Amino acid sequence: LTPLKIRGLGSFVLKQASSTRERRRGRYGHDAPLSVVRLIESPPAVLSARQVFLLAAYVIIGSPKDNLILFYRYFTDRDTPMKTARIEALAREAGEYLSGGCRVLTSYFERRLYSRDLARVPSTIETLMHRTTPLLVVQPRTETDVQETLRFADTHGLPVFPRGIASSAFGGATPTMNGIALDFSAMTGEIEVDKDRRTVRVLPGTRWADLARTLEPFDLEPVTTPTSRFSTIGGWASTGGLGLNGYGYGHFAEAILRARVALPNGTILVLEGPDARLGDYVGTEGQFGIFTEFVLKVRPKPKESFPCLYCFESLDAAVDFIARFASRGHRPCHVAVYNEARMREENVLFRDLTGRTDSIVPEENAVLLHFERAEDGQRFAGDMGTGNGGDDLRLRAARWLWSERYFPLKAHRVGPGMLASEVVLPLRLVPTFVEKAPRLARRFGSELALEILVSRTAVGEKAVVIASFLCDKRRRLDYLFRLLLVQLLTHEAVGLGGIPYGFGIWNSPFIGRRYSASERRRLETLKRENDPLYLLNPRKYLRVRTRLFNIPALLFAPRIFMTALAAARLASPVIGALARLTPGPKRDTWQVPDSGQDGGRTLLLETAARCTFCGACLSTCPAYLVTRDELVTGRAKLRMAETLAGGGSVLPREAASPFQCLRCGLCEEVCQTRLPLRDCYLALEAELEQINRRPDDLIREFLSRVDRDRSFLEKVLGAELPAWTPEVGAAEEGRR
Ligand SMILES: Cc1cc2nc3c(=O)[nH]c(=O)nc-3n(C[C@H](O)[C@H](O)[C@H](O)COP(=O)(O)OP(=O)(O)OC[C@H]3O[C@@H](n4cnc5c(N)ncnc54)[C@H](O)[C@@H]3O)c2cc1C
Ligand code: SF4
Ligand code: SF4
Repeated sequence: LTPLKIRGLGSFVLKQASSTRERRRGRYGHDAPLSVVRLIESPPAVLSARQVFLLAAYVIIGSPKDNLILFYRYFTDRDTPMKTARIEALAREAGEYLSGGCRVLTSYFERRLYSRDLARVPSTIETLMHRTTPLLVVQPRTETDVQETLRFADTHGLPVFPRGIASSAFGGATPTMNGIALDFSAMTGEIEVDKDRRTVRVLPGTRWADLARTLEPFDLEPVTTPTSRFSTIGGWASTGGLGLNGYGYGHFAEAILRARVALPNGTILVLEGPDARLGDYVGTEGQFGIFTEFVLKVRPKPKESFPCLYCFESLDAAVDFIARFASRGHRPCHVAVYNEARMREENVLFRDLTGRTDSIVPEENAVLLHFERAEDGQRFAGDMGTGNGGDDLRLRAARWLWSERYFPLKAHRVGPGMLASEVVLPLRLVPTFVEKAPRLARRFGSELALEILVSRTAVGEKAVVIASFLCDKRRRLDYLFRLLLVQLLTHEAVGLGGIPYGFGIWNSPFIGRRYSASERRRLETLKRENDPLYLLNPRKYLRVRTRLFNIPALLFAPRIFMTALAAARLASPVIGALARLTPGPKRDTWQVPDSGQDGGRTLLLETAARCTFCGACLSTCPAYLVTRDELVTGRAKLRMAETLAGGGSVLPREAASPFQCLRCGLCEEVCQTRLPLRDCYLALEAELEQINRRPDDLIREFLSRVDRDRSFLEKVLGAELPAWTPEVGAAEEGRR
């Protein structure tokens, strides 16, 4: 190289390095290494060969620090400038296909809300396994939106993850790759009731509570519902299907008269009549197609309600009692069994709720029955002996348990967390499981609360056994032990001949227990036919796949997983003893922190830890109904508080959304953990105001939208909304 050439090359590279620096600073917010900055800002007359090399290296590979930061962001599934550009381009293109009402969400925090379901997975495990943040969230309003999204995804090779309100807990609705989260919670449409035929046509995002409210004036009600009445019909059709009144009316599938399913290539399949392969789509967690519409059977609304409670020395005796009354032809609509620990928990929560010191239920093993005709209940009592007959306390307990049926997760309030193994067992196997499971849990220092829902299905009596215990996710090691306990309990049930209630990601190694080898092969062929690119809810259910060259998935290979659990079961006395060194939380009342303390931060974090993420607060929130923006709801605001406390940030637009709130308190009314949400909103808003200004224009616009839709909202919610006046605002300022 002659000096002239070096000088020419030097000035060219210097120019490139200078513009690269500007570009990178704009895109990443980081600067070039100091040595490069010095050269760019005060270049020498002649660059040496080493300096040219340094500048060229910077132009080509960037600064080591930049690259490390980028790699970290890429590895931990955060947005990088390249990803942001891709997301924006995809959103623009998708917007051209979709209907006007269909929202496409692109901002990071908002998309992060879609990265989980009920389960709280430690972030390290999540990061090693999957990329859980979707690139886009699409909220379809019509079947055509669903078809167009599927075609768009197919063209771009993007995976699609259908989602109701994510009230299931095994990763079924959780993204496993950067793709599209298809959020059905806004695809509700009109509910069409045919009173004479006793049928109803609904879209998949319709919530059970809304369906029940619509049916009420017609004196009708759904045949069976999950206890999560705020979850979507599409979500339940794709998962469990065993719920309330399951003893009288069986599995939800029996109530589906017709369903429309969108296949990954966008075509629509109509499932109707005896030849329809409904079973391929119902309960298969969105693996083979996406529900876009249902016609359901409904039934006359019962005029009477007759709950009764029977207590027993052991759960064996309780199960024997169920077998006896079944053999005598009694058919209560609802049958649930509770163990002593579950009844004790009920009393703790009752005292926490009322501030009283007495008990509401007897602390014994019990069977709750519900009859829809007093006559049936009285005939039952005459034949089987009295349950609560003549005993006021027992009657009060029965009524209480029946009225609390929609709140199975309320123990989160005292937890501050709760984990559960949910398995389905033939009823006759329940006594063996309930004898072994509490012993196993005791080894880990956990008290097992058991609630068992009994349903009658085409293949006999099935029991959904929910074995729950308290935990605290913030105590990481302790939480890991308790996650292992969940798997050990499920393994125990599977060993007896049961199956997990849901599979998703975390229970997928047990899938071989649900399907025979030939049935599984048939389903794999169906998957290949329906979804040749494996874009629909991939990497779960039939087989788990993970990132990092699929190495973490090895642990989920059924043989390895079962062997590991069998070994952990053998070693459980030792593992349990270690777990007991970090004892789990005790059932006790929760002292709600004062909102004045440290600017409400303790209140926010303690409350967020108790949020189950169940999504009940979405369905009743007028602000959500008006905006369809999940950021205005309780669960998103608590998540935002956690993010900010953890050093995360949100965009100004995201920080403005939570201010759209009427303080109506409807979210508090449905929250089963009875969280002090409105106090939390005030604390969060105060924190957000320190980051950004209060978004007065947005609030005004929101309030005028509410006023425009007030009568509609009040009709849908069945509640009067507060008028938001300057006086209300001033009073709130004072409170803050
Ligand atoms: C308090 C509480 C009580 C519960 N009680 C019961 C109960 O009694 N019985 C019971 O079975 N479960 C119960 N569950 C679990 C859960 O509510 C049900 O599985 C449920 O109905 C899921 O509905 P979702 O709208 O939340 O669906 P999500 O959790 O969002 O999704 C569930 C699965 O369905 C898929 N999916 C969602 N929408 C569609 C669609 N349109 N087409 C195809 N696939 C789709 C998702 O990909 C995912 O795999 C309860 C949960 C909670 C929090
Ligand atoms: S107070 Fe009312 S508007 Fe505000 S989040 Fe709760 S339900 Fe929604
Ligand atoms: S705030 Fe309450 S209702 Fe809302 S998701 Fe959390 S626990 Fe459920």
